Amino acid sequence: MTTYTVPLREMRFVLHDVFGAADKLTALPGFGDATADVMDAVLDECAKLCEGVLFPINQTGDQEGCTIKDGKVTTPKGFKEAYKQYAEGGWCGLTADPEYGGQGLPETLDCLVAEMIGSANLSLGLYPGLTQGTILALAALGTPEQKSFYLPKLTSGAWQGTMCLTESHSGSDLGLLRSKAVPNGDGSYSVTGTKIFISAGEHDMTENHVHLVLARLPDAPEGVRGISMFLVPKFLPNADGSLGKQNAVAAGSIEHKMGMKASVTCVMNFDGAQGWLVGQPHKGLAGMFVMMNKERLFVGGQGISQAEVAYQSAAAYAKDRIQGRAAQGPARPDKAADPIIVHPDIRNRLMFARAIVEAERALTVWTHLNVDIAHKHADAAVRQHAEDMVGLMTPIVKACATGFGSEITNACLQVLGGHGYIREHGMEQLVRDVRITEIYEGTNTIQALDLVGRKLGIEGGRLFTGWLKEVDDTLKRLAGRNDMTEFTAPLKDAVERLKSVTAWMVEASKTDPNARGAAANDYLKMFGFTTFAWVWVLMIEAALAKKSSDSEFSAAKLHVGRYFMQRVLPQIGGLDAVIRSGSGPMMALAEGAF
Ligand SMILES: Cc1cc2nc3c(=O)[nH]c(=O)nc-3n(C[C@H](O)[C@H](O)[C@H](O)COP(=O)(O)OP(=O)(O)OC[C@H]3O[C@@H](n4cnc5c(N)ncnc54)[C@H](O)[C@@H]3O)c2cc1C
Repeated sequence: MTTYTVPLREMRFVLHDVFGAADKLTALPGFGDATADVMDAVLDECAKLCEGVLFPINQTGDQEGCTIKDGKVTTPKGFKEAYKQYAEGGWCGLTADPEYGGQGLPETLDCLVAEMIGSANLSLGLYPGLTQGTILALAALGTPEQKSFYLPKLTSGAWQGTMCLTESHSGSDLGLLRSKAVPNGDGSYSVTGTKIFISAGEHDMTENHVHLVLARLPDAPEGVRGISMFLVPKFLPNADGSLGKQNAVAAGSIEHKMGMKASVTCVMNFDGAQGWLVGQPHKGLAGMFVMMNKERLFVGGQGISQAEVAYQSAAAYAKDRIQGRAAQGPARPDKAADPIIVHPDIRNRLMFARAIVEAERALTVWTHLNVDIAHKHADAAVRQHAEDMVGLMTPIVKACATGFGSEITNACLQVLGGHGYIREHGMEQLVRDVRITEIYEGTNTIQALDLVGRKLGIEGGRLFTGWLKEVDDTLKRLAGRNDMTEFTAPLKDAVERLKSVTAWMVEASKTDPNARGAAANDYLKMFGFTTFAWVWVLMIEAALAKKSSDSEFSAAKLHVGRYFMQRVLPQIGGLDAVIRSGSGPMMALAEGAF
């Protein structure tokens, strides 16, 4: 069995000590209730749900998986009851508008709630994760009727939201999609097409489904400029909100997959299903991005969630398992051998996991703080800057947290040796479950291309410059702090390298059309490490401020922060060299020679 205790102390440290989130949030209109006490109480309550209800059915859910019979999907034993508790607790609507039954709390809090739910049960957490994205999209783009009709049901968790984009021939390139929507003449549309890989497309935990479907109108231009978004309910609701007849949409089959077996993935057939346009005609992709941006950050949180469980489980095992002796002499002479935690390699894996997870959590909270500021701040310039930071960090959070999620779960499995490979220990489930996070919501390469191709290019690098200023402000504030130099000096070097390689890439892409594509993944990783160095500096600053009140916690932070600066951050030197080799090494071999 894996081990998981919600890291509440770590979460509170990031929320309160590092970012002073409560003061920033309560100053925003509508977030007066988001005090430190309220946020702590919400985290405590969710931790109980995670540890007591969701985590105990994680492994059995994987073993049983979902099944389909006559188009009806059954989730594993205990899921229906656990979801009911989740929904009744109001967790689906944590951030939703109180006008529609939500609690109106900040996204900053929700990202920590989502992390712990993902850690406890990644599969179960995906269902409401999609509903939350649907709520966001409808709240932003829906008509007043759509909002008043659908949002209360989604917010309460009674209905499931889904996103239906992918078709068999159209994955990363949504411009290729073929699903059609024809006007019925009464304001509704008939939606026809087959969508594949649809998470939560059909199941038994909610009474209705609300599918957001991308399709083309008859007069649609080709490519991504001809895509519209439609709301297609599974059961057509009556005017009083009760369920009417079944719409012409059904799950044709479910996928048999590597991991996340308790999260159903469906082929969805829309056969002239009645739907309603959401947002403007032909602007559906932009509309869907309201949902996708939320989901991309959510998926980043999924990566962190699995790495956290892997770390906790591997650390517990390493303190217990005895093999070999410590190099400096027996640590436990009373035993036949020492616990494997004495060995540098085991410590290296655990330290890497911890250094990355703690940085990712801090970066994620900072990004969500900016989401809240971008939504609510009274000053338009402040809102714009916050939106810029969210835009820049979204691909980094998504791709780094999920890429390292895979790397860390694998490294932690190794800590258990052969036992890690055996099913009963649960480590192999983490490796399998987390793997999809690198693929869905736009593969990590698509994220990297978004960063180098679009985000860096916006208004001559406005987003990048805005972030550099954030780092510069930190470095200026800490300029006289000798106790911080061992952290601030490597950050300064990393930022200079990042600036230099960014300039190199912009220049190289003027003559080489493949330059950005060749650099993208390594560049994103280098950027990720540099942002981690920045948040580590912020965490060390906060930890030093806590030194007298919590010396043990503070000392541990310093050790992990030092590990990051000395053992992880130097990797950017290698990435820098790799990026500057350009596209030649990968493009030179003729296609026929592969
Ligand atoms: C379990 C699961 C759940 C999913 N849930 C949903 C869901 O709820 N809703 C939904 O709509 N979809 C969902 N998906 C689909 C998922 O989002 C797609 O699989 C993903 O976007 C990639 O598309 P694809 O599989 O067609 O791969 P492709 O687009 O064919 O890509 C294949 C490879 O080529 C690379 N590639 C593609 N284009 C480029 C390029 N321009 N430059 C460089 N490399 C490129 C990709 O990175 C990838 O490595 C899910 C998939 C799975 C497996």
